[in-house]
Amino acid sequence: MVLRIIVGLALTAVAFAIAGRRLWWLYRLGRAGQPAPERIQAVREHPATDAETQLSEVFGQRKLLKWSVPGTAHFLTFWGFIILILTIIEAYGDLFSRRFAIPGIGHWAAIGFLEDLFAVAVLVGIATFAVIRLRTDPKREGRESRFAGSHTGAAWLVLALIFLVIATLLLYRGAQINTGVFPYAHGAFASQIVGHWLAPLGLTANKALEATFILAQLAVILGFLVFITYSKHLHIGLAPLNVLFSRRPNGLRALQPMRSGGKVLDFEEADPDTDIFGRGKIEDFTWKGMLDMATCTECGRCQSQCLVGDASVNGVIDPDVIWSCTNCGACVEECPVDIEHIDHITDMRRHQVLIESAFPTEASSMLKNLENKGDPWGMGQARRLEWAEGLGFEVPVVDGPIGDDVEYLFWVGCAGALEDRARKTTRAIAELLHTAGVSFAVLGPAETCTGDPARRIGNEFVFSMLAQQNIETLNEARALKIVASCPHCFNTLAHEYPQLGGNYEVIHHTQLLARLMTEGRLTPVTPVPEKITYHDPCFLGRHNRIFTAPREIMEQVPGVQPQEMHRCKERGFCCGAGGARMWMEERIGKRINTERIDEALGTNPDTISTGCPYCLVMLGDAVSAKKSSGEAKESLEVVDVAQLLARSVRPADGGALSAPSASSDAAAPPDATAPPDAAAPPGAG
Ligand code: SF4
Ligand code: SF4
Repeated sequence: MVLRIIVGLALTAVAFAIAGRRLWWLYRLGRAGQPAPERIQAVREHPATDAETQLSEVFGQRKLLKWSVPGTAHFLTFWGFIILILTIIEAYGDLFSRRFAIPGIGHWAAIGFLEDLFAVAVLVGIATFAVIRLRTDPKREGRESRFAGSHTGAAWLVLALIFLVIATLLLYRGAQINTGVFPYAHGAFASQIVGHWLAPLGLTANKALEATFILAQLAVILGFLVFITYSKHLHIGLAPLNVLFSRRPNGLRALQPMRSGGKVLDFEEADPDTDIFGRGKIEDFTWKGMLDMATCTECGRCQSQCLVGDASVNGVIDPDVIWSCTNCGACVEECPVDIEHIDHITDMRRHQVLIESAFPTEASSMLKNLENKGDPWGMGQARRLEWAEGLGFEVPVVDGPIGDDVEYLFWVGCAGALEDRARKTTRAIAELLHTAGVSFAVLGPAETCTGDPARRIGNEFVFSMLAQQNIETLNEARALKIVASCPHCFNTLAHEYPQLGGNYEVIHHTQLLARLMTEGRLTPVTPVPEKITYHDPCFLGRHNRIFTAPREIMEQVPGVQPQEMHRCKERGFCCGAGGARMWMEERIGKRINTERIDEALGTNPDTISTGCPYCLVMLGDAVSAKKSSGEAKESLEVVDVAQLLARSVRPADGGALSAPSASSDAAAPPDATAPPDAAAPPGAG
């Protein structure tokens, strides 16, 4: 007995010393990161939300359970280890007294049953993990495997250690039953089965087995503890912390302002010699950034959703990883421990752009155009109203404060005002609003780019310049309610301008049109007998959770047969244009818009609909390429849901509302050309 105590305590002391030393080192590493006072402040301000998030994400395993099989396996393993804390207490108690029982509950059959139930559940969980790992082995599947690039050996070692934890537990409990010291007379069904197997060995052997496997159980648990601190299994302790300090509601929607030393960077006072511009090296990251890195479980859910190419790191981040990201948010959506991938990628881009001047060269004309002309194509403000020429009504242009008679400021956006295909959407929206009797006005030449492409590529300086200019214009116009047709403009106006003092009620055109239909102010009557598949724009869907409105519009158009693509709504797949990718060449692997159109073609659609001018261009280009190669029928087209609705709606006087795709070419001004070829988005070419 004394020997048992000495060995047990000695093992514990050694394991705690090694693990403690490692944790202290990790703590100091985290402390070396930049401050992030806003994270602590947010936790102080929203304790109730944080408690709710811990309950749903940590204890409820909400995000893990989105993948039903591995999610359930993880749920069983997680809860198994929570319940099995009781058995660890019992093992330590047994070191000192063979008849130890947890005070109060230690003889309850229900507790014995629960312990055994979860011991078996953990075995089921790890068996499932083993099968999943065998079926998606990166050695066989290469980059197709979601585990590509992860520490596969360590993952197998952990599965083996967990198996040993359960095996030694059941063996010592089975032996205890045979030696008459087991605390549970009933309930512990698995231990009883093992006891039954061990009984023929006799009392002496069972006593030896009991002593041996108690120590073996403690040794395995302590070994596991040490291993956790040196491996991706750190997430066991760090995940709740990372979830606690993560952004609410998640790491989507707005990008964070640039911060240095815990403060938002003021470009007028910032000094590149003393301030941190983005992230260029590990110590530039905040402690929260480091916590993100230490918490990653290497589950590969993020990269299973991503087409950005080779994510191998080899000590430095591959530039392709930084520049290929479309900011689609699929990784953030899936990550079970709330890592904020887009924020990190943007911070690295910021350093590359602002300090190193190292970014894809083809994007430089876009940035110059934004600075000099206020739009990515450099077409200039004078052309921002061309889209409205030839409409059968006048579009009011804001000149001074907006009157009470104007309900919405219609934010047209650069693509909506200047890109030929997107102009058709803009005309359709204007016609529908006019038909529904919604009073609206546009900024016209006073509107400039929201700055989204500049911000997403990492040029925060140009973003803040454009954003401040727009906020000034909007505030002078006393704009309160804005309807935006571009999800990127929508996202920036609604979620990023408040960072600079611009606060508006922003709505996407699909939301407004759906509401007008519900109110009976727009009634689709002309049938559109087509099979239509809807592509969720990432910044409308995943980032802003607007899934229903565009679908409601489609469903109410008579004749439309909606069909969903395999990847839709929260799991929608990107068109390839976000994150300023619209203005960069795509050089790696299969083009993203081609991948998406292949998926759309799988539904054999007559029309592909969407709610974003970027998607319209990217998907339209991919469809054109498919038509050239004979893989898509000539009649297939990509339209905005507003165009679709306009085809079906007739105004109250019974006359036909001009169908944008058929009529806008005729109605367009003679010089309403597409952006000049030289400045056309290469990503869309
Ligand atoms: S945001 Fe999209 S493109 Fe960027 S890393 Fe995540 S999944 Fe990949
Ligand atoms: S970042 Fe998140 S989703 Fe990706 S491997 Fe790590 S834990 Fe999994």
